[in-house]
Amino acid sequence: MGYRLKKKCEKCGAYLLVMVGDDYVPGNKAREEVNCPRCGTEVYSTMTSGFLNVVEISEDEFNDEMFS
Ligand SMILES: [Zn+2]
Repeated sequence: MGYRLKKKCEKCGAYLLVMVGDDYVPGNKAREEVNCPRCGTEVYSTMTSGFLNVVEISEDEFNDEMFS
């Protein structure tokens, strides 16, 4: 299963939702990274063969524990 996690950009303070897709090539993982859509700073990286995507969310969404 893929998963999602919330990150705050350390550089510009943007609230971000990172979505990590399922591995679709088992054993063929590579280091994937996502950058802040606002300032381009790397905010997250992981070893996966799936996709990474990132969207900016509001502060309310970021602080909402139910939003995951
Ligand atoms: Zn940023």
